[in-house]
Amino acid sequence: MNSILDETKFLIKKYNISANKSLGQNFLIDDNAVDTIISSAQINKNDFVIEIGPGLGTLTSKLLEQAGKVTAIELDNKMVSILEERFKFYNNFEIIHEDVLKVDLHDLIKQALLLSNGQLKNVKIVANLPYYITTPIIMKLLEDRLPVETITVMVQKEVADRLTAIPGGKNTGAITYCVYYYCEAKQVILVPNSSFIPAPEVNSEVIQLKVRKVFPVELQNEDLFFKVIKASFMQRRKTLLNGLSNAGIASKEVIKKMLLDLNLSENVRGESLTINQFADISNYLIKPCN
Ligand code: SAM
Repeated sequence: MNSILDETKFLIKKYNISANKSLGQNFLIDDNAVDTIISSAQINKNDFVIEIGPGLGTLTSKLLEQAGKVTAIELDNKMVSILEERFKFYNNFEIIHEDVLKVDLHDLIKQALLLSNGQLKNVKIVANLPYYITTPIIMKLLEDRLPVETITVMVQKEVADRLTAIPGGKNTGAITYCVYYYCEAKQVILVPNSSFIPAPEVNSEVIQLKVRKVFPVELQNEDLFFKVIKASFMQRRKTLLNGLSNAGIASKEVIKKMLLDLNLSENVRGESLTINQFADISNYLIKPCN
C-alpha cells in the first residue's frame, strides 16, 4: 500500500464504512502527521501503549511495530471487528470494546505490566482523540494519576492552545491550570482539516503532555485548589471575589481579607492569576482561622 490515504480508502471501501459523526470519526490520512506522532512519542519495545479511539487502525499499525504491547480502546463495534481482523496476527495487540471514560485504566496498566514479566516498563498514551469528549478524556487521564510517562494526542487546534497555554497568560481556561499542574505540555505539529476523511470543520494540532514527577506548586489540599480554579473560570467575566463567593467556597468578607493579605486587587479575575497565586489562595482558604 503506497500511502495512508490509499490504505484508508481501501479499508473504507472494503468494509463499506461511513464515518459516524456522533462518535467524532475523522480518519487521519496524512503520512507526515502520522510519522510525527509516532516519532514524537518515542515508542520502544519496553513501552505499553494505550491508544484511545483507534478507528481503522492507522496509528495502531505503526504503534504495533514499535511498542512492546498496544491496547486500543474503541467504542464503535464496527471498528472493533475491523481491527480484530486487521491485526489478528499480532501477539502484542489487544482491543477493548468500551467507552474509554468507563475503562479502569489503573487496572488495565497494572495487569499489562504484571503479565509482561518485566518486559513492559513504561506506559504511554497515544491518540487521535474523538473531539466531542476531548476535555473529559484529558481530565480523566490526569485526575486518575496514572503511572504514565507521556500523553501524545491530536486535538482541535483551539483546544491545543488552551491545553498548552501558560497559566496567567492568554487562551487559558480551568483545564490549562490542571494540565500545567500535572504535566509539561508542548505543541508538536499543526494538522490542517484536509488531513482527515471526512474533513472536520476545524484544524487540529498534536500536543504532548509529559507527566511531571514533581508538581510545580505545593498544595495543602488539591481538591480545594481545583475547586477554586473551576469556580473562578465558571463565570469568566466575574471577579474572583464573586466567582468564589457564588460557588460557596468562602464568604465575601473572608475573600476580601484574603485578597488584601495576598496583595491582590478586589477586582482581580481568575484568568489573570498564575498557578502560584491560585496555590496561595487555596492554601490560604484552607486555614480554619480565616
Ligand atoms: N485513530 C483513528 C485515526 O486517527 O484515523 C480514528 C480517530 S477518530 C478522530 C476518533 C475515534 O474514537 C473513532 O474511531 C471513534 O469511534 C472513537 N471513539 C469515539 N468515542 C469514543 C469513546 N467514548 N471511547 C473510545 N473510542 C471512542
